[in-house]
Amino acid sequence: MHEGLEELKIRLGEISDLRSTSALLDWDQMVMMPPAGASVRAHRQATLERVAHERFTNDRIGELVSDLADVESSLPYDSDDASLIRVTRRDWEKARRIPVELAARLTQTASEAMEAWVSARAANDYSAFRPWLDRQLELKQEYIACFEPAADPYDHLLDDFEPGTSAEEVAAVFARLKEVLVPMIAEVSSVGDGGGLGHGPFPEAGQRSIGLAAMTAFGFDTDSFRLDTTVHPFCSAFGISDIRVTTRYQEDDLESLFSCMHEIGHGLYERGVSPSLERTPLAQGCYSGLHESQSRLWENIVGRSLPFCRWLHPQLVATFPEALGRFSVERFHRAVNRVEPSFIRVDADEVTYGMHIILRFELERELIAGTLSTADLPDAWNTRFEEYLGLKVPEDRLGVLQDVHWSCGYFGYFPTYQLGNVMSVQIWEAAQAALPGLEERFEQGDFSALGTWLRENLYSLGRKLTPKETFARVAGGPIDPEPYLRYLQSKHGVA
Ligand code: ZN
Repeated sequence: MHEGLEELKIRLGEISDLRSTSALLDWDQMVMMPPAGASVRAHRQATLERVAHERFTNDRIGELVSDLADVESSLPYDSDDASLIRVTRRDWEKARRIPVELAARLTQTASEAMEAWVSARAANDYSAFRPWLDRQLELKQEYIACFEPAADPYDHLLDDFEPGTSAEEVAAVFARLKEVLVPMIAEVSSVGDGGGLGHGPFPEAGQRSIGLAAMTAFGFDTDSFRLDTTVHPFCSAFGISDIRVTTRYQEDDLESLFSCMHEIGHGLYERGVSPSLERTPLAQGCYSGLHESQSRLWENIVGRSLPFCRWLHPQLVATFPEALGRFSVERFHRAVNRVEPSFIRVDADEVTYGMHIILRFELERELIAGTLSTADLPDAWNTRFEEYLGLKVPEDRLGVLQDVHWSCGYFGYFPTYQLGNVMSVQIWEAAQAALPGLEERFEQGDFSALGTWLRENLYSLGRKLTPKETFARVAGGPIDPEPYLRYLQSKHGVA
């Protein structure tokens, strides 16, 4: 191997070890750690992250990627080595633009503002959170100023989560969705749909075994995965064969089943990355939108489909005879696809979810552009919420205070949730075209053909290519809202 390339891989391998260890401490904090461990844990993590950051932004990494330009151009564009050099150069140049002092303030403010948000939400007091939101917005302006001016300053924030996509492109996709979704929501939700799943009881042990049954059918195995319980469900990967999924159980609903299917979608993506990329910065899913396309594909397109329900229904009835004995498979399928506008984004159904995101994208883009002030934010939220979803927001904890993202400084993250939904349908259509009779296999509990196709055409690429390049390979074209809209219209029976 070229000497410089070998040195680069050794350095990046160690940085990957440090970052994965830090992520493991994060997981431990949310899953295992006794509460009093928090204060010393913050130091452990800050140290690991500082050392990893210093090692990565070191001059030597820059010299190596610059010396390796000839090696890179002699290799195929999508080869592991050319991709490693190219992606490392981009990451390094970006990381070097952020002064260490600003990075530290961003981290520090995020943790303080998040604490302030937790109490402001509990007290339903936007005025207590507003100074923190102002501080976050000032910091975001400082961050944006680290880069060359872009057409829209928001582009720099989007670049952290969906590099290569501009605010203008997102706005164009969302404008089309809005045109169809707003009247569709008014129409679908006015049609009575026979109610939801009732209120159980769904004992926790049964929920865990049903969640595991669905995940195992999708590709979860105990050699490489774990399932634990947390307040907020999430998925973390500390290696291609070390994936941690979490969920939460409430005895009066079956949300844990859908959260398991969502998180295993993220997990399967990480599990499917090519082993040749392990211990490099390429050994992970390709940014937020594609990642979310996979959680949504497994949770909604597969997990809320009639063939899937036909497979799972006998197990559900056997596990929860009291709560679900009277539910036919068709009624169960209707209940888990019920459309009903609601205030909280994370509880929203497939049809209304998009408008929750479009609202947030519009507001945060205006906050960053300076055309909306934090003083006017709750009113702007409530007015548009009623326009888009037909509901009057009664209090800020059900409105502007509901999400953690802005407190952590995650501006530019929201749109990737909905881009993921749109992409999930295009990827699904490509899989169906390649694998005839795919859905019929679901009725037998066989999801392996879909899993293998996704691994070969998407997951294995890891972060070698940009999100747009990766998506074009798996879906055969650029992002297009029409297949997603057709999917919703045909599933929910509106023209
Ligand atoms: Zn997700």
